Amino acid sequence: MTRDALLDQLHTTFGFSAFRGVQEQVLARVMAGQSTLAIMPTGAGKSLTYQLPAVMLAGTCVVVSPLIALMHDQLRAATANGIRAATLTSADMDRAETIERFRAGTLDLLYVAPERASQPHFRELLTTAPLSLFAIDEAHCVSEWGHDFRPDYRLLRPLMDAFPDVPRLALTATADRHTRADVLTQLGIGEDGLIVAGFDRPNIRYAIRHRDSLLQQLKTLLAEQPGPGIVYAPTRKKVEELAEKLSAATGRPVLPYHAGLDPQVRSANQAAFVASEDMVMVATVAFGMGIDKPDVRFVAHAGIPKSIEGYYQETGRAGRDGDPAVALMLWAAEDFARARHRLAEVEEHRQAGERTRLDALAALVETGACRRAVLLRHFGEDPPQTCGNCDNCLDAPGIVDVTELARKLLSA
Ligand code: ADP
Ligand code: MG
Repeated sequence: MTRDALLDQLHTTFGFSAFRGVQEQVLARVMAGQSTLAIMPTGAGKSLTYQLPAVMLAGTCVVVSPLIALMHDQLRAATANGIRAATLTSADMDRAETIERFRAGTLDLLYVAPERASQPHFRELLTTAPLSLFAIDEAHCVSEWGHDFRPDYRLLRPLMDAFPDVPRLALTATADRHTRADVLTQLGIGEDGLIVAGFDRPNIRYAIRHRDSLLQQLKTLLAEQPGPGIVYAPTRKKVEELAEKLSAATGRPVLPYHAGLDPQVRSANQAAFVASEDMVMVATVAFGMGIDKPDVRFVAHAGIPKSIEGYYQETGRAGRDGDPAVALMLWAAEDFARARHRLAEVEEHRQAGERTRLDALAALVETGACRRAVLLRHFGEDPPQTCGNCDNCLDAPGIVDVTELARKLLSA
C-alpha cells in the first residue's frame, strides 16, 4: 500500500489533505497488519487511524468503545463521510439488520461495547465474515492502573485471541508508563507496537502556586488574561460561590457550570461561553469534554485536579489555536490531605493505582524543576532540559540573571 493511495483515500473519504502528527506512522503499521498501541492526545485524530484502514482493507473493522453515546456520535460522523458503519448495542433496534449487513460483508465498521465480547453469539458471528482489524478505543480502560478501569475490557483478549490473524489497534489519550505496559500485556500487543505522539503544548505556560488567597489570586489572573477562560473548582457549591464572587469582584462576564444545574441552563451557559471572547466559566470537571473552543486563554484550577492525566486534559483545553495561554493551579496542603483521606473509600484493588496517581501529582506540584519536563516524562516523552515557559523555568535565578544581564548589555 503506497503513501499516495493512503493520501488519496484520506482526501476522498475525509476531505483532508495531510496526515497529522503520528497518524501516518500508525496507519503504516495497521495497513501492514501489525498490532499497535497508539497514545495520542485528545483531538489528535485517533478515529481516523482505524477508519481509514477500515475503508481500505477487505473485511470489517470491529471497534470497541466504552460508551453507547460515544459510539453513536462516531457512527453519525462516519456515516456522514460515506463510511459503511453500524453499532451493535442493546440500544439499537436494527440489530438484525446490522447482523445481516455484517454477514454480507458490507460493513466497514462495526461498533460494539466491550461486554459483547463475552457473548458466544458474538464470537460466532465474527466467524461468519472476514475481519480487517480490531480497534480498541479508550484502551486504558483495560488496565487497573488506568484512571477508568472497565472490567469488561478484559474480555477482549480472549475474543481477539480467537482471531489470531486479525491485527489489533489500541488507542488512548492517557496512559502513563505503567498503564501503557499493562495495556500492551492485557491486549496482547508487542512492545515494539507502541507509538506515542508528542504531548508537548509549548504555547501553554504552566504555573502552580500555593493558594494563599484564592479570590485575590484569581482576580490577578483575570486582570492579566483578557480572553475567555475556565476556572475549575472542586465542588458544585464552590463553583456557585466563586462564580458569584468573581463576577462581583472583576466585572467580567462569569457563568457557572456543573452537573447539578438545570440541563437548559447548562447548555445555555456552555453556548454563551463558546460564543464569547471574554467570558470566564467557573466549572466542575463536568465541563469541557467535547467542547471545541480554540481561543481559551487560560485554565485555572482552584484546588488540585484528580491526577496528572486530568491536569493535562483540563489544561489542554487552553490555547488550542496555538496562541499563548496560561494554566494556573492553586493548591493547598488540605487538598492533598482530603484526597488521601478519600483513598480509603476507593475499592481496595484500585487503591495502589490511585495512590501512585496522587503521588505523581504531588511530585508535579512540589518540584522546583521544569513543570513541562515532569509532565512530559510522565507521559514517557523525553523533555527539553528546560522549557522556558513554566513558572519554575521563568523564576529560576539562572534564567532571570541571564535575561537581566542581556538587558543591561544591550542597553549599555
Ligand atoms: P481523538 O479521538 O484523538 O480525540 P478525533 O478522532 O475525534 O480525535 O479527531 C479530532 C478532530 O480532528 C476531528 O474533527 C477530525 O475530523 C479531525 N482530524 C483528524 N485527522 C485529521 C487530519 N489529518 N487533518 C485534519 N483534521 C483531522
Ligand atoms: Mg476519540
